[in-house]
Order: sequence, then structure tokens, then C-alpha cells
Amino acid sequence: MAVAVAASLLPFFYHLLVLSASRWLYAGAAYIAYNTSGSLVPGKINVHLVPHSHDDVGWLKTIDQYYVGSNNSIQGACIQNVLDSVVEALLKDKNRKFIYVEMAFFHRWWRQQSDTTKKSVKGLVSSGQLEFINGGWCMHDEAAVHYIDMIDQTTLGHQFLKQEFGQVPRIAWQIDPFGHSAVQAYLLGAEVGFDALYFSRIDYQDRQKRTDTKSLEVVWRGSKTLGSSVDIFTGIFPKDYEPPPGGFYFEVNDESPVIQDDPLLFDYNVQERVDDFVAAALSQANITRTNHIMFTMGTDFKYQYASSWFRQMDKFIHYVNKDARINALYSTPSIYTDAKHAANEAWPLKMDDFFPYADRANAYWTGYFTSRPALKAYVRMLSSYYLAARQLEFLKRGSYGLTTNSLAEALAIAQHHDAITGTEKQHVADDYAKRLAIGYTEAAKLVESTLTSLTESHSSSGHDGGDAVTTKFEQCSLLNISYCPASESEIKDGRSLVVLVYNSLGWRREDIIRIPVISDAILVTDHEGKIIKSQLLPINSASLSLRKTYVQAYIGNSPSVTPKYWLAFPVTVEALGFSTYFIRSSETRGTHAFMSIVDSSQGMKNSTKEVEQGNLKLQFNHDGKLSFYFNKRSLVKTSIEQTYSYYVGNNGSEIDPQASGAYVFRPSGKFPIESDKVPLTILEGPLLHEVHQQINSWIHQITRLHKTNEHVEVEFIIGPIPSNDGIGKEVVTQFTTTMDTRKTFYTDSNGRDFIKRIRDHRSDWNLQVNQPVSGNYYPINLGMYIEDEETELSVLVDRAVGGTSLVDGQVELMLHRRLFHDDSRGVAENLDEEICIDTKCEGIIIQGKLYIRVDPLGKGAQWRRSTGQKIYSPLLIAFSEEHGGNWSNSHATTFSMMDHSYSLPDNVALITLQELQDGNVLIRFAHMYEADEDKNLSEMAYVDLKKIFPDKKISKIVEMNLSANQERQQMEKKKLKWQVESSPSADTVVRGGLVDFTELVIELGPMEIRTFILNFNNT
Ligand SMILES: [Zn+2]
Repeated sequence: MAVAVAASLLPFFYHLLVLSASRWLYAGAAYIAYNTSGSLVPGKINVHLVPHSHDDVGWLKTIDQYYVGSNNSIQGACIQNVLDSVVEALLKDKNRKFIYVEMAFFHRWWRQQSDTTKKSVKGLVSSGQLEFINGGWCMHDEAAVHYIDMIDQTTLGHQFLKQEFGQVPRIAWQIDPFGHSAVQAYLLGAEVGFDALYFSRIDYQDRQKRTDTKSLEVVWRGSKTLGSSVDIFTGIFPKDYEPPPGGFYFEVNDESPVIQDDPLLFDYNVQERVDDFVAAALSQANITRTNHIMFTMGTDFKYQYASSWFRQMDKFIHYVNKDARINALYSTPSIYTDAKHAANEAWPLKMDDFFPYADRANAYWTGYFTSRPALKAYVRMLSSYYLAARQLEFLKRGSYGLTTNSLAEALAIAQHHDAITGTEKQHVADDYAKRLAIGYTEAAKLVESTLTSLTESHSSSGHDGGDAVTTKFEQCSLLNISYCPASESEIKDGRSLVVLVYNSLGWRREDIIRIPVISDAILVTDHEGKIIKSQLLPINSASLSLRKTYVQAYIGNSPSVTPKYWLAFPVTVEALGFSTYFIRSSETRGTHAFMSIVDSSQGMKNSTKEVEQGNLKLQFNHDGKLSFYFNKRSLVKTSIEQTYSYYVGNNGSEIDPQASGAYVFRPSGKFPIESDKVPLTILEGPLLHEVHQQINSWIHQITRLHKTNEHVEVEFIIGPIPSNDGIGKEVVTQFTTTMDTRKTFYTDSNGRDFIKRIRDHRSDWNLQVNQPVSGNYYPINLGMYIEDEETELSVLVDRAVGGTSLVDGQVELMLHRRLFHDDSRGVAENLDEEICIDTKCEGIIIQGKLYIRVDPLGKGAQWRRSTGQKIYSPLLIAFSEEHGGNWSNSHATTFSMMDHSYSLPDNVALITLQELQDGNVLIRFAHMYEADEDKNLSEMAYVDLKKIFPDKKISKIVEMNLSANQERQQMEKKKLKWQVESSPSADTVVRGGLVDFTELVIELGPMEIRTFILNFNNT
């Protein structure tokens, strides 16, 4: 049998042998010169091949591990390989192109290159072969980021590109973030000067409808207020940001068939592969308007050996164009955008945003709105600190080598869509936190040294005395957990604790600050020696226990003293200035600092409690729950109940294996957290009233009323969320009223515009509801509100969280999550954050604040906007020590950068004041109101620059685009204008006019942000 078979094959082998030999002998040279010069061909389908690598600035590995290519057992990824090999591949053929996005990586690589390489790369950039798009430090998230951070991180990257390459990126490339915000479209898109925005992740139902109706490419009008002036062309990829279906992945180990075009070798397949390519193109062209389609040729961390991709694309362009059914070319999103524009097409109009995002029926990516709440809070806290530190950096001018640079970079990286989102591995989250801590430490030195020079430079005795001692300032970065060595030490006789309070807002500010102290025999005076009314509040055991654990975990040892009280006192601080207060020992306790009256109602059944401070009165029912809200001034009264619940995180064992995890929120059941009766401890005093409640064994809450405010502050301590039952829990709080809100609520977009949400509804398609809870969750950065015909209820937040209104009259916010299953989106870890001391670990505890207010209808905006600004920018507090009572003789005790009679208008915030490397000054003002948001404040605002800088002469002012890499007028001139299919009636957009150099008054229309570069050199 065996013999027979061999015999029958013989002629076949013989034939092959003869054929091969003849081919080897006579075929001649095997070199093929590929024609890669494809350009646009009118009338044909043009396939734009866009080579790219999606390089996460930290995810499964840290940013530096990704860069150098270490820790490859987790993921084989090395950005150095990508950039080295791409440059080499581009130099081989001038038709090849590549785009690069993340400046955090590119900057690392650029520093390490020789002058020769830098020269070649500059050549590639100027010829357009290497194009920078997006160009921010990272590809920021769009749900959990604040608009100021988005602007800062984009500016950081754009400054680098401008300085090194003179380049101004044209395209926003947000291909991976998990849903897309209105602020991204209109602010970080149109106002940056981008001509288009591209991404891939939209809801699967939305995608289906857009695919069916050829509406994946649209003109997005992200701002109701700025209307058509901020239209941006937006391309949503048909599926994802990878190559099209049909086998077009060409990393070294990828399985797609390569083009085998050497006739002397086996498996020649040119025609098959050309057919595959044409089929993929026709299929995409079928769902795309115009005859231009884009193939995104790359995906995560690809092009580590770039030749393997370019070799195949060279061949495809060569053979497909020879085949001539369609046309293929090396392209970039800029070339693609220009081609779309040239097609002179009218596009569907898109309003609002693309939240929430679901990639499948039970997979709403709404968990990450809350995931890692401590990291989210840390980023928010340092964001405002960075803003204040840059103001002080500017005031110092020529600081001694101290900068905010490392904080700037750490914050920029933290905006990445796997950083602040909480969707990274634990060791990577730790890496972000470490970078932030280092950045803070360096910026804090700058802040402290600036405060020294500002206080001393105004002194009368000054430095002329030879024994002048430099004033030392100290800050307390753990003040939020009542740890502050500076204020907790004993104040000896004849000395005082100096408390300097800096206000980074452009308005005079009155507030109550709180610091931990050990003694009750103290008094507070202002800079004139006048005694200030203060109040002592015993620190509760939940806070002290949090303090003990976390100080030990963060600092490495337990503090030797334990403070007994919060000392609260009112402060008044001028705009962009500071005030000084003094705390001394007092001979008699309780006389100067008012000791709070403690009323513990424990055990008292069936009695309601009323707490009244300033204009606000709250009532707690006999179960200890908040039940009623009354404002004496506005006469608003409403029943309001606050409750806590948790969702059980789905463990993926049901028919659909989708679990709740770092990205996805998939609840299976909601359970109230309640004990029959929550005992209240009420602290009362002249400045603050507090209601302390231990809700259950792992939730503690303080409901606080300030004398100077008309809102309720809710401070919560949540955790450790119990893990012993193995059940993942997602903790929420609800504020429930009887308001008739008709399924409607409003949530902010990145802390800026408010967007109307309707439960179980999407404006772009007929929503099929599969997840009635998680499908109604939206990202919150500033706050949310609900309204009926009489009142509105607003809740503001201190960090990014997820929120919704699942029942009319109710607001629900998710505050903490602890889950024991991975949700299968790549991170491959459970969202189970722990804190460890030595080897003992427990789930982390979250402390945070919510701010609640009820207003008559139409009156809430002013509170939301101005209080939102205060929450974002808390007062910066620094401590020093006074010896012998002569501080006021030798130090400036009050200061304001601005003219003392001046304040920014109530509707304008200063969001950037920063000295640039070249000595110029970058300044940004934001109008804080939308059109028609407030009766008086949604109007044109005027900022008088001369009064902001009374001691300086402005020699030049240039208005820039948002990221300050080009002049605004230039940007407007070259920006592409797009047509929309059916535009609503013409909109009237109010914007400020050009700035007259003699007047130096800046006008701002509603929602406008204006960016300027000032020069003070010729003073
Ligand atoms: Zn990514």
C-alpha cells in the first residue's frame, strides 16, 4: 500500500522539480520596486491607510515600564521599539506615513536621541511623514476628568510640539476613551482649533443605527451656548480602532496572511489578498458617505517592529492600485479630513454627548465613573493645588530652581483614560499616586518659598538686620484626614501658630476653615490683633480611627499626639491674595474658642430633631434620617430624605457572563443600608452645627451647616466595604424628594456645561433598555440637579463620581465600589483596593463630601457655579510659628495681587495664570454660565486686566487658541467650516470682541473661555 502511493506521487514530484528548477534558473532578479506613491483618485473609493500605535500612558504596566519594555510577562510592549523602528521604516520610503499621539512617551524618547536622529525626525515631521495628532501629554479620559485638567494636559503636549517642531496638531484622536463628552467636542476640539475628532467607542445600539443610516460621520455641535461656532467634524470608526475585518494585522507574531508575491516561492497569494482588501474596502464604503474611507492600521502597542507592517502596506498599495478597482494610499487623519471636506457634503448634526457607553447589552461602562474614588479625589485636589501653585510661581518670578513641572507632568499623565478612570492594574494606580505625591512635594516647596518671600518682602524691617531668620512655612497635605503636625503641636507661651490662608479665586472670599488642635484653651486673632470668634468641635472616633490607620500607612509611623478638636474659625481673604491669622494659648478655656454643645439623642425614641444655623433649618425624623429642609430667606421648604444602599456587583455567573468590574457596572439587586434607628450626635456652636451619624458599622456621616453658607455639607466615611461574604458591593447614597421631575435630570460635562438627561431615553435612537440602572448612569464632575415647577435640588461633588435619577424626585450618586470579579475588558484584576500596614490589609476607606441645596426654580445656577468654583479651589492653608509677638512688624499679613478695589465679575473664573519658559505669561478666563442659565449672570462679562495687574505694565497681549499654540485669529482663519444636513434655525452666538490694547478689557460671552499670552517685559 505504501509503495503504491509513493509510486503514484512520483510524476507529481518530478514535474515540480523541473518547474522549480526552470524558475530559479530563468526568472531573473526577485526585487520588486513597490509603487507606494498612491494619491487621491477622484471618482474611486479611496482607502486611507492610517498607520498608528495606540500607546496607553499606563494600564497593565506603568508608563515607564511601557516605555523601556520591562515587565513583559504582563504585556510585551516597548514604546522605544515603536519609535525607533517607525523612524527607521519611514526613512526607507518617503511615501510611508505614521501618526503619533502621546507626548508623555514621545518626550521620553526625544530626550534620548542623538542630534543626527533628531535632525532626521524633524525632516520626517516637516515633510508630513510623521504627523503628531491630538498631541496632548496623554489621550485623556472624557468622563472623570475636569475641563481644567483636560486643557492643562493638552497645553503641556502642545507647548512641547510647538517648541521642538513648530508643529500645531490639527486633529483630535480620542480613539479609546469609553464614551465621549460634549466638552471634548467643542472645547478640546473646536476651541483648540482641531479640524476633526475621531474615536471608536459609542453605544452598540447607537452604532447599529448609525451604520444602517450612514451616520457614523457627523458634525458635532457640543455646546448649546456656542452653537455652530464650535461645530467639529467627527468620525466614528465602524467597529474599533484596529484594521478592518479580513486579516490585516501585521505585527511580527500576528496571524493575518502576508502578501506572498515572489513567484519563485510557494503560496503566492497576491490576487487573494487584493480581493480581501477590496472586499473590506467595499464593505466599509457601503456604510460611509463620500468615497473616502479610513483603515486604522494598528492597535495597542503595535509597530514594535514597524517594517512588518509597512512591508505589507507597501504591497497592498502597489497591487491594489494595479488592480485598479479601488485606490489605496498612505494617509493621515489630516489628509482624510481634508478629503472629506473637499467632498462638499452636508453631514448629520450631533448634539449633546456620547454617554453612557455600552459595548453589549449588559455591559454599560458606567462603573469607571466611580472606580478608585481615592485616586479620583487625589487628582482633583492636586489639580486645584497646581492652579494655585502656578499663581504663586508667577508672583515669585525667578524662583530658586523650584517649579511646578513635575506636578504638571504627573497630573497630565493621571488624566489618561486608564488612569483617573480607575481601569488600570493596582501597581499602576500606585505609580500614578506616587508621581502625584512627588509632584506635590516639589510644588509645595515652591509654594512655601513663595509665601516666605511674599510675606518678607513687604516687611518693614526686611533683611537688613544681619540676624534675620527666614520664615518657614509648612503645609498639611493630610489635613483632610485630620492630620496636621503644624497645628497639633503645643503652642507655648509667648508663641503663636501663624495660619496663612491663600485664595486662588478672583473674588474676595469668606469661609470657615478647620484645623486639628490638641488644646481647648486657645484663641484666634486676625492680623490686627482682633479676637476672632472660633469654635471647637470634638473630633469623632470614626475620623480618629481613619487618621490613625492612614497616617501609619502613608507616613510609616503613628503620630505621637492625637488632636482632640477641630478648631473652626471664619476667614476673609482678598482675591489672589492671603490673610494671616494667629492662634495663641489662652489662660481660660472655653472663653474665646467656643466649645460646641454636644447633644446626644441616643435612645430618645419617637422624637424629631431640628438643627438650625443661619438661614437653614433641617429636620431629622425619629429614625434619625434627614427628613425636611427649610430656608428662611428663600422660603424654600421641601421634604428630603437621605438614604444609603448598595448594589450587588454581578459575578458573571448568570446567562451572560458579564461581571461588574473596574469598567462595567452590572448590578444584580439593590439593598438598602439601614438600621432601624440611626442615633444622632449633634454638635452646636456659633459657626457650625454638625450632625454625626454612624449609619452602619462601615459608614459614618456628618451633616454640616455653616453659618456663612446656605447649603448642607455631607461628609462621609465609607469603608472598608465588607468582603467576608465574597459579594461585591457598589455603595450609593440617594436624596429623595417629592418633586415631580418627569424622568428628567441634569448632569455636567467635565465640570462645565449641564446636559439634560431623560431616564431610559436617548435623543439619537430609540433606546432598548436592558440595564435600567447602569444604563441611566452618567459621569458627574461638578454636580447634578433635578427640578420641578417650583424648586430645584442640586448636589455638588468633590471628585468625579457616577450619578443618576432612577426615581422621580431623587438624585443618586455612587460613592465607592469594591468588587471581586474582573469584568473582562483587559485589566484582568478585581477592583478590590486595599490598604496595608505591614502584612495586615483591609479594603480602603473613602472620605469625601457632597454639597446639597434646594432653591426656588431658576435660582440654583448661581449657587452651583460659584460654590462649584469654591469646591474646586479650596483655600490653601500654610502654617508658621511666631516668636515674641512681632510677626506683624516684620511680615506682610495681608496681600492681594489685584487692585484692592477690584474683583473678577461674579460670572468669570481665572482658570490659568502661569509664567511660561520664555518669560511670557499665559492667562485664561472662563465665563461660567451658559446662555439663559441665570437671569443676570448669563450676560457678557468684562475683565479689567489693568486692575488684575496694578503693579505691572502689560507691553503686549495676544489672544491664543485654547491650548495656546497658535494665535486665535490665525486659527479661526484656517479652521474648516462644515455643512450640516438640517441645521436648526440660525443661532446667535455671543462672543467677546477683540481686546483694545489701550483699554485692556477682556469681554467674555456665556461659556466662553479666552486664552491670552501677556508680556510684561518692558516695565
Ligand atoms: Zn487606551
